[in-house]
Amino acid sequence: MTELPNYDANCELCIANKITPWLYEDEECWVAECMICDTPMIVWRPHGLPEKDTEDRLMAKLGEVATKHYNGDGWWPDPHRRNIPDHWHCHARPKGGFFGR
Ligand SMILES: [Zn+2]
Ligand SMILES: [Zn+2]
Repeated sequence: MTELPNYDANCELCIANKITPWLYEDEECWVAECMICDTPMIVWRPHGLPEKDTEDRLMAKLGEVATKHYNGDGWWPDPHRRNIPDHWHCHARPKGGFFGR
């Protein structure tokens, strides 16, 4: 494949500027500190929403990265996509924090 099948040049998650520290990346996804809320956020590389089994795999990956990031302090996944609803991503919030929805 030479072209990206799902890419939106106006989407900041597609552009994926490394303006914050990246905690993890592979060919399917990446995890970086969110520049807005300062918590780890996993982003699926294609612009869109994954199938359930792909999403499960991504969430498992976020689990690995977040558990290490929070050093066993606990965290919870926040799948609510406030700013970019049509590009899959998920935040890992610190336990007991950030419940403002
Ligand atoms: Zn955020
Ligand atoms: Zn996108």
